[in-house]
Amino acid sequence: MARPWSREEVAYLRDHARDGSAAIATHLGRSRQAVKNKACELGLSLLPAAYDRGELCPACAMREVERNTVAGRNGLCKVCYTYRQAERARQRAAEIRAQREYDAARQDLSRARRGR
Ligand SMILES: [Zn+2]
Repeated sequence: MARPWSREEVAYLRDHARDGSAAIATHLGRSRQAVKNKACELGLSLLPAAYDRGELCPACAMREVERNTVAGRNGLCKVCYTYRQAERARQRAAEIRAQREYDAARQDLSRARRGR
């Protein structure tokens, strides 16, 4: 059974909710999930206040979105935008490889049909 929350711990959670679950979990010696569950029960947001002001990246809720950058114009922080670009490049490479495989198979098929 989970250890019950003391009044002091609940007060700490209320005061430090915006510090995030990791910092609170470390301070209280509880798991992050326990902190998240309690915050949810109490209706507290664990996201930084800057997130509510729309200043943080919606993907990671950690880093700032710099509006004057390509990443920022795409609504993301530089790290999340770069990860997204990497994922797209990986996807494109897979498509090119699949196409090459398909072309080779079609050539093989036409050679087979010509009896070679
Ligand atoms: Zn981000």
